[in-house]
Amino acid sequence: MKLSSKLLLVPIACSALLLASCAAENTDASTQTSDSESVTVETPESTQVELISLFGDDALTSEATTVDCTLENGTDTTCYQFEVASLPSTVETDGPYCPATTSDIGGIWVWDGDDPGLYALDSEYWDMMSAQGYDFVDADGNISISDPAAPSETATENSCLEATPDGSYHLQVLIPTAPELLDEPVDLTEISQIGLAFDGVTIFGDAPSVADRGGLPALDACGGHIDPSGYYHWHFGAESIQTNLDDADTGLICDVTQEVEASIGLAFDGYVIYGPEEDGAVPSDLDACGGHVSDTDEFGEVYHYHLSYDSPNLPLCRVGAAADGKLSSPDGDNIALPDGEGGGPDDGGGPPGGNG
Ligand SMILES: [Zn+2]
Ligand SMILES: [Zn+2]
Repeated sequence: MKLSSKLLLVPIACSALLLASCAAENTDASTQTSDSESVTVETPESTQVELISLFGDDALTSEATTVDCTLENGTDTTCYQFEVASLPSTVETDGPYCPATTSDIGGIWVWDGDDPGLYALDSEYWDMMSAQGYDFVDADGNISISDPAAPSETATENSCLEATPDGSYHLQVLIPTAPELLDEPVDLTEISQIGLAFDGVTIFGDAPSVADRGGLPALDACGGHIDPSGYYHWHFGAESIQTNLDDADTGLICDVTQEVEASIGLAFDGYVIYGPEEDGAVPSDLDACGGHVSDTDEFGEVYHYHLSYDSPNLPLCRVGAAADGKLSSPDGDNIALPDGEGGGPDDGGGPPGGNG
């Protein structure tokens, strides 16, 4: 997993160049100094404005601010502080997730047992589950559905999990204003925290395995769903998921605007995530995390991540340091947020009486 140090050094140099040139362009002549070192230490105001302007209308519920923060590698620095709604107003959050019967239309699931891949939750999928010994459907074709926050005694071992939305609180996100590379990338697998989409939706790694845990926390057609704590989040980059849906013959439509080359969000290390393509094709020089250094519309030649056309389609690891407390819910009591270590409470399928 260790990336070559040569590659990792490039973004630092490029970022420094970018910041210096931005500062020079936008700084009043009377305050310009020849001390280029001091220019690169602080993120210039102009770059902040540009980054924040990438967020969509209504994506943020209050004005983004810059605060002191400490990164996971111990660096004291500054972070953007973003606040988003637990149920974003920018995207649909009401499913469908679990279909009531095998004849109804539900959402999707990335199956990790035999015949793995992306599936629509339709009769063919439930047939496959039955054939593999998973008991989601009764004799009348009704799907066993349960709320992972309130497990029902009648739920079978294999239930389609659908949590109750709660739009009453905010999520607060801290992202370093100047990305700082780690010695080794951090793996972003099950339920790890990946970033914040410019729609104001948080993005997490793979949802928990049905094969391992029994419950199936259904996703909507955009790869999102409600956490047992009530907030909506994505397990996909929704902005290019339509390709995945079409390739898998799901017949489903994600109504998030599909932009295969646009910037779609910020990873928790501060690097921008783009759609899967660049200059009309999937880049051929991506590292193990799904990132590389190349020219971007917004920031010039800098390190950035790309979504993939895999399912899920997210970066597989993170090269930079995230902030301590990168995701919190300041006005939501007892909100369980994934811890980024792959074991956080998220989607259910856990042991009865657990976090769900
Ligand atoms: Zn690129
Ligand atoms: Zn989830």
